[in-house]
Amino acid sequence: MNYGIAIHGGAGTILRSSMTPEKEKLYTEALKKAMETGYAILEKGGAALDAVEAAVRSLEDCPLFNAGKGAVFNHKGGHEMDASIMWGKDLTAGAVSLIKHVKNPVSLARAVMEKSENVFLCGEGAEEFAKEMKVEFAGEEYFHDAFRFEQWKKAQEQEGVYLDHNIESDVRGRMSEENTKDGSGIGPGTSDIGLSIDKKFGTVGAVALDKDGNLAAATSTGGMTNKKFGRVGDSPIIGAGTYANNHTCAISCTGHGELFIRSVVAYDISALMEYKNLSLREACEEVVMKKLVKIGGEGGLIAIDKHGNIELPFNSEGMYRAMKSSSGVEKVEIYK
Ligand code: ASP
Repeated sequence: MNYGIAIHGGAGTILRSSMTPEKEKLYTEALKKAMETGYAILEKGGAALDAVEAAVRSLEDCPLFNAGKGAVFNHKGGHEMDASIMWGKDLTAGAVSLIKHVKNPVSLARAVMEKSENVFLCGEGAEEFAKEMKVEFAGEEYFHDAFRFEQWKKAQEQEGVYLDHNIESDVRGRMSEENTKDGSGIGPGTSDIGLSIDKKFGTVGAVALDKDGNLAAATSTGGMTNKKFGRVGDSPIIGAGTYANNHTCAISCTGHGELFIRSVVAYDISALMEYKNLSLREACEEVVMKKLVKIGGEGGLIAIDKHGNIELPFNSEGMYRAMKSSSGVEKVEIYK
């Protein structure tokens, strides 16, 4: 039986020209670490559900990505995180949104799935449940990051709402048009790990197939920079940002959430396979490259089917992504 895992760290305007070898190395290492963490579980015969949770936790703990520790600021200058997880074996699922103080939202989503009668908890109620479940909490200072703060201030000045990956190129573009003083189009902004303001991207996710033929998917995000207070994107919505069904595939999305919700992206891929007999590749092509493009839905997704085939399609400039399968394929990629 084939098995494997794919992960993503967000999609958007990620250009080789705005990357240095050192930063590329940081991203590559973080992606590889998360992928290996999940793969090691699969290799030992562990469940796909455990593999995707572990991989996403690794990315949530890394300040490079817009989830958990690296979550972006909303319009009010706070954090509201969303996450979801789904088990393809029995179609059970758990999701949380508008979470402020939980260190690993993906694990709270899993607790909702396994230890509550519900599928989706949000805001205060979800945090109350988190306390009952004794999941690890983290204070404001844990989520505060100099880079994210600068990024948010730029977005506020521009009165915009941005995909984490796109804010800086957009802000830079507009500001250089206006001839900023130093010509860089960017104010001072260096994160606590020494990255300049335009070098940190994305929502995270993982999909996996285990040795027993079970599929699972998980997604976690801080949402979009300067998003409206209370706004929820696609990431915690089962069928939009996350979906897994042992008869078809497991999917985790990243991109402009509103458009992904309207396109019911993750379930649409599964439905095209189930009802129209499309292959994973054909279904991804149809949804990511045609349907989403038609309505201006920028982004991508990671997908694995019940045979272990993996697809990593995106219609943006780049997507942080990695995959490893028992058939010997292994890659970590960023650009088109
Ligand atoms: N899909 C996420 C959202 O809209 C953002 C992202 O993928 O970067 O909240």
